[in-house]
Amino acid sequence: MTERFTGSFTQQEPIPEEGIEAALDVLRSGRLHRYNTAPGEVSQAALLEQDFARMTGAKYCLALASGGAAMTTALRAAGVGPGDPVLTNAFTLAPVPGAIAAVGARPVFVEVTPDLVIDLADLEAKAGQAKVLLLSHMRGHLCDMARLMDICRAAGLIVIEDCAHTMGAAWNGTPSGRWGDFGCYSCQTYKHVNSGEGGLLISDDAEAMARAIVLSGSYMLYDRHIAAPEPEVFERVKYDTPNISSRMDNLRAAILRPQLAALEAQVTRWNARYHEIEAGLMGVPGLTPVPRPEAESFVGSSIQFLLRDWPEASVREVVARCAARGVELKWFGAADPVGFTSRHDSWRYAERQSLPRTDAILAGLLDMRVPLTFSLEDCRLIARIIRAEVSAVWQGQAAAE
Ligand SMILES: *Cc1c(COP(=O)(O)O)cnc(C)c1O
Repeated sequence: MTERFTGSFTQQEPIPEEGIEAALDVLRSGRLHRYNTAPGEVSQAALLEQDFARMTGAKYCLALASGGAAMTTALRAAGVGPGDPVLTNAFTLAPVPGAIAAVGARPVFVEVTPDLVIDLADLEAKAGQAKVLLLSHMRGHLCDMARLMDICRAAGLIVIEDCAHTMGAAWNGTPSGRWGDFGCYSCQTYKHVNSGEGGLLISDDAEAMARAIVLSGSYMLYDRHIAAPEPEVFERVKYDTPNISSRMDNLRAAILRPQLAALEAQVTRWNARYHEIEAGLMGVPGLTPVPRPEAESFVGSSIQFLLRDWPEASVREVVARCAARGVELKWFGAADPVGFTSRHDSWRYAERQSLPRTDAILAGLLDMRVPLTFSLEDCRLIARIIRAEVSAVWQGQAAAE
């Protein structure tokens, strides 16, 4: 009998009861807007910012409407404007170049390595071309952050980290988002905490964060923030900073606070699932797993592997055969964007750039989500299916040669 997987790759866990209770309290109060507080009340949004600043060790935190809004706000707060080049990963998802385009700036793409991190040699070569790097920790893979920061400091680059896939991850014990000048996080349903939509921005830079808070649409109510710079810092920036409404509301913040408190435990559960799948994919001829360095503590909310130098038709066959058995693999080599998956050459608003090493990696890159609704047994079954189908296609190729 051929085994089939029948679970859903897009089904997340329910919101914890504590979050539902907190959300109901906000709904009953009617005070959903973050600056609509009763006398003496601190809003859920301000408390969420305080929680996340403490959790990451950042001085300041701002809650926003999305991860994309966190990135555009950070870019603007860092002084990026129309026409400015911004370095970023060639291998990432559309909201990253989209954030650069949103401020009228131009993405300059940096190659990816077979370990799925930014190519530091290519970064060093291109470092002189921009003042800012928007670094995407795509699919949760962290590069050697100490080395990256050395390169960026030497070149005078401001570093904005896109931590959409690394909330809860660290390099050498320092949380992702705390190496660079800014850390941006997404609280969208498919990330590590779920408020439907939402974003968080952290930094230790007082003036930049005062600008970010005014940019987010604080009117002149910035004194209602807790994880924020002193009022005198706002005095210096408030007349020169536009209000670009992108605030988070109290309902989402209330849903998120208990999830942040549970994040560490959730990371353990994610990684147990990841390790089951990873173990099941070891030693498959033709399949290259992506190594996880010793210094990296990651969140296994998705898994990737490479079918390096495979013909396109064979990669497609693996995807189709796995899909027929209920296992959804996303292929980054497809010429046309499918769902969440797209490639640098499909972002046609950006100048076309030659990235041969990235193209070669993406041609054989398969990616799979690992939601927490999967059991460990589900993960073992999924690995058996991928293993069998990759092996079958591999053997078919060998026989045809
Ligand atoms: C999801 C995501 C973001 C932010 O997305 P929003 O949907 O705006 O919250 C940023 N970068 C990457 C790589 C993402 O996957």
